[in-house]
Amino acid sequence: MILDLFSLKGKTALVTGANTGLGQGICIALAEAGAEVIGVARRSCEETAELIKESNGSFTEIIVDLSDKNAVTKITEQTDTLGKTVDILVNNAGIIKRADAIDVTEDDWDQVINLNERLVFFLSQAVAKKYMIPKNEGKIINIASMLSYQGGIRVPAYAASKSAVMGITKALANEWASLGININAIAPGYMATNNTAQLRQDADRNEAVLDRIPAARWGTNMDLAGTAVYLASHASDYVNGFTIAVDGGWLSR
Ligand code: NAD
Repeated sequence: MILDLFSLKGKTALVTGANTGLGQGICIALAEAGAEVIGVARRSCEETAELIKESNGSFTEIIVDLSDKNAVTKITEQTDTLGKTVDILVNNAGIIKRADAIDVTEDDWDQVINLNERLVFFLSQAVAKKYMIPKNEGKIINIASMLSYQGGIRVPAYAASKSAVMGITKALANEWASLGININAIAPGYMATNNTAQLRQDADRNEAVLDRIPAARWGTNMDLAGTAVYLASHASDYVNGFTIAVDGGWLSR
């Protein structure tokens, strides 16, 4: 009986950044739990589609550059064209730019804030307004970071944007929890994806990161699977505005 609460059968999930990394893992997890998944990405999500097909799941892609100022409208228009509504939104896509704070350019700052922060808010607003509030039901999962809690090194715009993600999660929960919408976030620890490739290639930084992780390994994209399904399902109906760390214990140190 309890496992039925975790089923996503009959639900449609929209996941941004579905072609690689954590987004791909989340798509696979939600599809395995029964959701029809719509993956949003700049490039074709061939690999994600193939992996989901292997387990007889359902996956459709919407190709949109999320840095386009009309991205939100394009996503909702294409969702309508597919004849779908959105029950679950995962704001996963994100970018990181590494530079000493003294050298950060305004252009890099704006790119990071626009994608990691502004889009998270306005896509949530559009999806809630169009699909979730009319049904009095919905799940929004934002992908935060350890840098929602910490300052990081050489990534000030990223740290600012991910702190904002935690703030947006709480602010929207305060307004929309009573409308049947759960908004929560997952703060991944140090995961082996493109986002951390530069860090892992730097032998000193790689060792320093690993030394600090109690679980003594980098996370994988499937490490988020259970938490994503939980937050997308009825099992989390009384969880609102919270950011769950999936970090191998990093924040406990
Ligand atoms: P990744 O670089 O593999 O994935 C980023 C995703 O965002 C990709 O699918 C990419 O195509 C998409 N994306 C970026 N810019 C886009 C644009 N303009 N239009 C459309 N799609 C765009 O890295 P990841 O680690 O899988 O990152 C996923 C999320 O997890 C990000 O929000 C990241 O900040 C967050 N995160 C990652 C880690 C980690 O250690 N890897 C830790 C904490 C948080």
